[in-house]
Amino acid sequence: MSFKYLKELPTPDEMKAQFPLDKELTTLKKERDNMITNVLTGKDSRFLVIIGPCSADSENPVCDYVSRLTKVQDDVKDKLILIPRVYTNKPRTTGEGYKGIATQPDPEKDPDMVAGLIAMRKMIIRSISESGLTPADEMLYPENWEYVSDLLSYVAIGARSVEDQQHRLTVSGFDVASGMKNPTSGDLSVMLNSVYAAQHPHHFTYRGHEVKTTGNPLTHVVLRGAVSKHGNTTQNYHYEDIMRLIEMYDKMDLVNPAAIIDANHSNSDKKYMEQIRIVKEVMHNRKISNDIQKMVKGVMIESYIEPGSQKIGDHIYGKSITDPCLGWEDSKQLIYTIADMCD
Ligand code: PEP
Ligand code: MN
Repeated sequence: MSFKYLKELPTPDEMKAQFPLDKELTTLKKERDNMITNVLTGKDSRFLVIIGPCSADSENPVCDYVSRLTKVQDDVKDKLILIPRVYTNKPRTTGEGYKGIATQPDPEKDPDMVAGLIAMRKMIIRSISESGLTPADEMLYPENWEYVSDLLSYVAIGARSVEDQQHRLTVSGFDVASGMKNPTSGDLSVMLNSVYAAQHPHHFTYRGHEVKTTGNPLTHVVLRGAVSKHGNTTQNYHYEDIMRLIEMYDKMDLVNPAAIIDANHSNSDKKYMEQIRIVKEVMHNRKISNDIQKMVKGVMIESYIEPGSQKIGDHIYGKSITDPCLGWEDSKQLIYTIADMCD
């Protein structure tokens, strides 16, 4: 066997006891979870804006960024619910490169899983306590979910994981909003089958136990664009794409149909400034079509303090070391524009 067992990790319960979310913030998280649930079930007409860096690589700039959202959230609270992206695990196309703070607490050093789990929990808890906003993250490793299950208000299943059975079955046990992305190929049926799987009860093996789940009615889709067999990107945020999605949703036995539009990744071809135009187009389509207004319940935007991206080791404060992001000023402006376009 070529596995070398290095260290035993603390259990999720041990980590939660050592780095707890206090009572007041636990109540705040419940309130925010309920608000987001009400959006997805159609009881609240506000619009979700999931916004933040591609990777939450460093505690200080991430907490600085998330805290900047607090005032903006207050200004737009009647129309929008802001959910900061605090993404601690990064999927990699070839498996190479920075894998997120939970694996590499220092992007310039070797992986350290125990230090990574601690850095992840500390950063998320600090970001909640300083901003009053509970975050979104991608569940890249299902067995790590319980390390953050008390902290996240939104969970995404990434384009590279959405066809995987263990991801789908694990989501079926969540009681928070969970977005299934379309796979990189763009196949919408893979994404919708994933929602179907997660909305239904399952019986499986999880963290060394036999478990049963009830199904998660808050599972919905996230459109992130696609890459064709020739390697070029194709978009799936346009009017016709959403109309097709509505037709496909209608044919399946699913509750709470909803879509979030991811404005970056293959939708922008990572031309991060295009996110502004893409989000405006989505908001426009919601205005001209009731069906689209009902289906599209939010957007996802990659945004940080500084625009663009940098190489690991460049040490520019608040600039992405993975996908390029909108800078703070453009992001703030875009949030106010989204609020205006909700009328
Ligand atoms: C991301 O959200 O940064 C990401 C990696 O998304 P996707 O799974 O759509 O590539
Ligand atoms: Mn990204």
